[in-house]
Amino acid sequence: MKKAVFFDRDGVLVRGLVRDGKPHAVRTLEEFEILPESGDVTTRLAEAGFRLLVFTNQPDVGNGLVERPVVEEMNRILQQTLPLTAIKVCYHSQTEGCICRKPKPGMLTEAAREFDLDLSQSYVVGDRKTDIEAGNAAGCFTIFIDRGYREQSPDNADKWVHSLAEAKDLILALEGNGIE
Ligand SMILES: [Mg+2]
Ligand SMILES: [Zn+2]
Repeated sequence: MKKAVFFDRDGVLVRGLVRDGKPHAVRTLEEFEILPESGDVTTRLAEAGFRLLVFTNQPDVGNGLVERPVVEEMNRILQQTLPLTAIKVCYHSQTEGCICRKPKPGMLTEAAREFDLDLSQSYVVGDRKTDIEAGNAAGCFTIFIDRGYREQSPDNADKWVHSLAEAKDLILALEGNGIE
């Protein structure tokens, strides 16, 4: 079985929109921007032998605020730019009661079956409480990137960092590959 790093998308690998201190998903291709540090971070972790995946809630689709092909095009660009094994997406609205929407671990457990991943040896990197809760429920090591949003922080992340690069350094250090 393989080790993986699961990244949240918006606010982690992709620039998030922050309004009144609260994070929002981008809704147009014009707003879509992969963060500059994402390339180096994912390259280094891929070189260290990890499978890299994205898991993202996109309820704006289920809520009728964004067309699904727009999100699919964003994810196509993301997968073309970064060395990702897969991008798991929950398109459901908050009220549909699906098993994939974070904080539920459905996207992680499905990916584990699909790609033969050992969740207990894998990492979750997120910028919101629900990312961390999903990672904890799946038995992963959870890393919270504190972007300073005006919302409740997770109370049970394994580690807190302040940037994606710091998350990468932490993972490499924990794996004994040293910090650059
Ligand atoms: Mg996010
Ligand atoms: Zn779902």
